[in-house]
Amino acid sequence: MTLNNISLEFFPPKTEEGIAKLISTEQALTALNPRYCSVTFGAGGTTQERTLDTVLSLQKEADIDCAPHLSCIGSSRESISNILSTYKDAGISRIVALRGDMPSGMREPGAFNFANELVAFIREETGEHFHIEVAAYPEFHPQASNAFTDLMNFKRKVEAGADGAITQYFFNADAYFSFIESCENLDIKVPIVPGIMPITNYTQLARFSDACGAEIPRWIRQRLQSYGDDIESIRAFGIDVISNLCQQLIDGGAPGLHFYTMNQSAPTLAIWDNLNS
Ligand code: FAD
Repeated sequence: MTLNNISLEFFPPKTEEGIAKLISTEQALTALNPRYCSVTFGAGGTTQERTLDTVLSLQKEADIDCAPHLSCIGSSRESISNILSTYKDAGISRIVALRGDMPSGMREPGAFNFANELVAFIREETGEHFHIEVAAYPEFHPQASNAFTDLMNFKRKVEAGADGAITQYFFNADAYFSFIESCENLDIKVPIVPGIMPITNYTQLARFSDACGAEIPRWIRQRLQSYGDDIESIRAFGIDVISNLCQQLIDGGAPGLHFYTMNQSAPTLAIWDNLNS
């Protein structure tokens, strides 16, 4: 692959100061020549406005195409329709469409049960205006009853009108290649871009990974645990592991890379430098 399909994921900062810092982070990452940035969305819609503010600030100040993440669980058709109109009016033309997770305490899923219904609704309301990305799970979604059902559910999102997919992060390239092969066998033709999580903090990574079903191979866990509080060694090892993973993905024909930057530029830049050296 030529490295020309890079995207960067950010989460919405809580303050104006945080947004200004994020713009500097994005600017520090221009060396990657990203095609677009995406901005996450909090469970239950708690950061809907912050997602929009962040997207608008990045588009204006950093002059980059931005895709808000939009999750539908707990929402009405009317509220999603209003959000789509706001995005359209703001000149936004990409969306990452998700089901999301039911916030604790919320009982009713709302008008949408699964992301394929959201994708169909976006197409129904706005035609081809938005380029729609959806989530894919090479190691399968933690709630999936089995691998085949999960693949078929992924296919439903593509058939509903998704243009592409970004994967949950993973550390084993074979999981990605096997997923791609299964998708090809099911005649799923959209680009499926691997999501790349730089390793910077073991405790946080272990917590995230347990929650989202991403497997940290034993050898990586053991090495990270052995570094204890030695942040520098964790980072150096993490950069090596993830650079290697990216290289395997590129060599195997991945159609791009989507970096979960965690709003930091240094780890992603270090991986990028390794890939280009
Ligand atoms: P779906 O595709 O709806 O799948 C959810 C589960 O339901 C799966 O087990 C699937 O097999 C099953 N399923 C799907 N369709 C059907 C159907 N029609 N019938 C029966 N079962 C079905 N979360 C956030 O809160 N905010 C974010 O910004 C965010 N960004 C993300 C970005 C990426 C790239 C990824 C990979 C994940 C992101 N998430 C985010 C996490 C995501 O919200 C959770 O993983 C959530 O549990 C599932 O969302 P989904 O869109 O994949 O759901």
